[in-house]
Amino acid sequence: MNVRRRIEVSGIVQGVGFRPYVYRLAGEHSLAGHILNTPAGVTIELQGPAASVDEFLKRLPAEAPPLAHITGILVQEIPNSREDGFEILSSERDESVRTLISPDVAVCDDCLRELFDPSDRRYLYPFINCTNCGPRFTIVRSIPYDRALTSMAGFRMCADCQAEYDDPRNRRFHAQPNACWKCGPRVELWNRDGKTIPAHDSMASTVALLDGGKIVAIKGLGGFHLAADATNQSAVELLRTRKLRVEKPFAVMVPDVAAAEAFCEVDAAARRALEGPQRPIVLLHRKPRCLIAEQVAPHNRELGLFLPYTPLHHLLFAKGNFRALVMTSANRSEEPIAIDNREAVERLHDLADFLLVHNRDILWRCDDSVVRPAASKIRQLRRSRGYVPVPMFLHEDLPPILAVGGELKNTICLAKGRHAFMSQHIGDLENLESYGFFQDVIEHFERILEIGPRVIAHDLHPDYLSTKWALAQKGVCLVGVQHHHAHIASCMAENHLEGRLIGFSLDGTGYGTDGQIWGGEVLLADYIGFERTAHFDYVPMPGGAKAIQEPWRMAVAYLAHHWGREFLSLPIPFVRQLDKREVGTILQMLARKVNSPMTSSCGRLFDAVAALVGLRTHVNYEGQAAIELEAAIGGSTDATPYPIELRAEGNTWIFDTLQLFERLFEDLRRQVPVGTISRRFHNGLVEAFVQLAVMLRDQHALERVCMSGGTFQNVFLAENLCSRLETLGFKVFTQAEVPPGDGGLSLGQIMVAAHTHYVEHRSEK
Ligand code: ZN
Ligand code: ZN
Ligand code: FE
Repeated sequence: MNVRRRIEVSGIVQGVGFRPYVYRLAGEHSLAGHILNTPAGVTIELQGPAASVDEFLKRLPAEAPPLAHITGILVQEIPNSREDGFEILSSERDESVRTLISPDVAVCDDCLRELFDPSDRRYLYPFINCTNCGPRFTIVRSIPYDRALTSMAGFRMCADCQAEYDDPRNRRFHAQPNACWKCGPRVELWNRDGKTIPAHDSMASTVALLDGGKIVAIKGLGGFHLAADATNQSAVELLRTRKLRVEKPFAVMVPDVAAAEAFCEVDAAARRALEGPQRPIVLLHRKPRCLIAEQVAPHNRELGLFLPYTPLHHLLFAKGNFRALVMTSANRSEEPIAIDNREAVERLHDLADFLLVHNRDILWRCDDSVVRPAASKIRQLRRSRGYVPVPMFLHEDLPPILAVGGELKNTICLAKGRHAFMSQHIGDLENLESYGFFQDVIEHFERILEIGPRVIAHDLHPDYLSTKWALAQKGVCLVGVQHHHAHIASCMAENHLEGRLIGFSLDGTGYGTDGQIWGGEVLLADYIGFERTAHFDYVPMPGGAKAIQEPWRMAVAYLAHHWGREFLSLPIPFVRQLDKREVGTILQMLARKVNSPMTSSCGRLFDAVAALVGLRTHVNYEGQAAIELEAAIGGSTDATPYPIELRAEGNTWIFDTLQLFERLFEDLRRQVPVGTISRRFHNGLVEAFVQLAVMLRDQHALERVCMSGGTFQNVFLAENLCSRLETLGFKVFTQAEVPPGDGGLSLGQIMVAAHTHYVEHRSEK
């Protein structure tokens, strides 16, 4: 007995090989019917024995193509009709289909096999791809996703490619970037002045240069990389000098997991992260006697490794002798990554010896993503290439809203319905070029997603360029969202939470509602609002932004805060080594309250401790002191937490660090190893937050805790705090798909704006 069913599939199901897949699946079960693209996804009609249709439905989501992302399947019985075989219908609507664009994806196994098959017509072709892999987001100018609106528009397919493109049974059916040696993009090797170096095989020449210790700028998927042999000390040192990037770690590409295992500890979670189609940079513990040059990631126990993701990357490793390449974003510190060939020559002239370019334009820059594998999840630190523009799926419907994020590590977010689309990593907006990029991304996202926001959410900091941009927009409703509230709302949104809960919002810097610099905040929060129930005691930041770059200033600020000038007689090395004149200036600044904004920042407390124990007086990149303090943890003999006192000030609890510093000095006097001090400090923070959580649970009957903010990139703190709380019966929520740092702010801003705006509207009526 035959049945006929209509199946509506929604999500990312177009331009990802879904129709050929369904065609094949229907064939395997000898089902009749058809498939059709619709504005919401695809509609399938199937006719055949009920058992076969059921089997088809079971396999449909389970075996879907790697790039497909199914968000819903709706099945309906309909009357039988006369239809033989299975067809892919191209409706007129097909032309104007509006659908989610897929992210860029690493070259698939089928294409890789062809790449290295001498009998294949694409043998060694650096731009081989199919519907299951290749560039997407970075080559799309506009929607619908169609070759004419991508940077492949200028390449006319040859007869062979066209035949593949038109054949529904082919892996390259409607693969928009389809290309081959005959008709597609090509690579060229340029010297640093942009002159073509005639070469019979540019790839082989490039590999020879890298083997010889040269620095080559290589055009990739979302931008240029600067490449150098990662095991060649002098090449890496040269790159560091040229890039003016004093100690910030470089990412390293290795050919495969086996190579990764030679340099770093790779467990099952790490392997999954490395091999995933998104190919993020994965932070891993380096092995002792690791052969990667020290200058790749100085003073860092982790290395950021990733596997090749374009055919071109695979060709480099196939031909070269090197087993690891530094592949760092091609830019000067904090400028956006270079994407255009001519722009690259201009900007990378002093950085690279040569450039390996090609003529497929990158339309949208997209930095490499960075993740850290954890036991159960992959935790995002920078969500960008490979993930964007896959939306975050929300638990409720939202009106069209734009959120413009923060200032550092900026991302923007556009939401509509149950989708929140977070942008790629935009960078630090204080940089003029990044600010231009920020504006372009907003415009592009609004266009390709067809979302016209009527509400714009922004940070409260009046000097953030994102805030200023938002305030200059006309005809929209503006919602200012407090920085640490946004962090917690971001965590709530990712975990689909509603209602009031305890929020631990710890980071370096965020503008508070009292105009001070917050950063060690405990909030009782829901999406609509928050109560600041506890925070670290305010201390001054002598020199403002300068205190962020120079942790020793924060150490002096804490000492002066607790002991006044008397700290100068403390018998510890840090004090003895201070420059008397500099300290004098700082103490005057503090006494006169000049250029010394008050802060409750958790990041600055880490800075102060790192400076006091002699780890770091000056930092070269954001968060460096905290990272090194965590990396120093050791000496498990004494793990007693340093005491942090909770003191009531009105309705607010203050974390008082006096006793913490007293114990720390005792340890310094007794010459306790830094590893032990760091452990006791970290444990002190854990205990203080646990104690507070227990109190808040008793007071407010809240047992859910959200943890967010850049400080939670600290694995030791995050994991220990989480497990202590869970042992005590708390439900703890953290961020994984969205970065806990400022890259995740935009999502939280969206949620707060959606809720406060809705409430305001109701009260107007
Ligand atoms: Zn492929
Ligand atoms: Zn071709
Ligand atoms: Fe923050």
